[in-house]
Amino acid sequence: MNVDIFKEMEDKNVEQIIFNYDKSTGLKSIIAINDTTIGPALGGCRMWDYENTDEALMDAIRLSVGMTYKCSIAGTNFGGGKTVIMGDPKTDKSETLFRALGRFIQMLNGRYYTGTDVGTTGEDFVHASQESDYLVGLPTEYGGSGDTAIPTAYGIYMGIKAAAKISFGDDSLKDLTVAVQGAGKVGSFVVEHLLKEGANILICDVVEENLKALTDKYPQVKVVAPDAIYEQECDIFTPCALGAIINDNTIPKLKCKIVAGSANNQLAESRHGKVLHDMGILYAPDYVINSGGLIQVADELEMKNNNHDRVMAKTRKIYNILLDIFEISRKNNIPTYEAANKLAEDRIETIGQIKRKYVGY
Ligand code: NAD
Repeated sequence: MNVDIFKEMEDKNVEQIIFNYDKSTGLKSIIAINDTTIGPALGGCRMWDYENTDEALMDAIRLSVGMTYKCSIAGTNFGGGKTVIMGDPKTDKSETLFRALGRFIQMLNGRYYTGTDVGTTGEDFVHASQESDYLVGLPTEYGGSGDTAIPTAYGIYMGIKAAAKISFGDDSLKDLTVAVQGAGKVGSFVVEHLLKEGANILICDVVEENLKALTDKYPQVKVVAPDAIYEQECDIFTPCALGAIINDNTIPKLKCKIVAGSANNQLAESRHGKVLHDMGILYAPDYVINSGGLIQVADELEMKNNNHDRVMAKTRKIYNILLDIFEISRKNNIPTYEAANKLAEDRIETIGQIKRKYVGY
């Protein structure tokens, strides 16, 4: 390995890294626990055909740090963690592989909860749940809280409204034009919310069936080519597909006043958040606006029962959280992603201080 593990842990304030190997199934996985100041770590399990252990380790660390910020800003009582499994999700999955993972999760005794992420599904965690009590996001028939795309899309809709209030002085989306990238699970639900409010929709996708499913239901949406989405004349650009789409190539094409969508890691580099800020384009930080799914799984754990209305009520607060972030950004003339990080860090710091008080037995 070339990674200096303790240096990475020090730089990113990572509490613990656990390497798991199981001979009988060939499982190789890494769990990174970034910060448990406010509660046990929470974060999904990614399965990916990593080139080598360094790449897997760095992904686990990077993703666990992101979860700390997301869990804090969403107002949950969880810290950040993430698991990666080294393997090809198309060919290397089995019941026993996920049961082996479940046993390793169980050994952490509630210090870390995990569930689905890229490359893993609810069914995989049904297997893992044979061995562990610390799993979330199982299919509803196994007691899970269901499709996270529903609260995620609702959070995106509320976040777009908050951004519109700042950029256009009114949170109504009527007659505004929104260019949506990706007609997948979240993108399609977002479009439904926007249409109900009278917005005009431009949409693109690289998978024809996904576009067709949406346009059959809503013929009024206008389809554009995937490469043309950035340069559309629109008020709002809503990325719901890939990460790193705000970059040196795409920024000069943008004609929108707002970037607000569900994709993770939208900024190719954080400096691109500063470029948007300097151009007067309001960016809703991705981990804030797309936290509806996390809110749902955190609620499932905290409340020990599933209640859709409660999850949606918590998700609605993304509107106010974003207004606070936009205000901090305006007052301090800093990019919105920096304002969001500050708010998340302040909450962790303050709760950490509160927890220092002795409360007796
Ligand atoms: P999805 O796979 O259902 O949808 C993604 C869509 O994007 C697909 O239809 C895909 O064909 C399309 N796409 C891929 N490449 C594209 C391109 N170059 N141009 C246009 N379209 C393209 O995934 P999803 O669950 O809808 O998630 C969308 C995004 O939101 C992802 O980045 C995901 O990480 C993020 N996110 C999802 C959730 C959730 O609860 N599902 C929560 C937080 C963040």
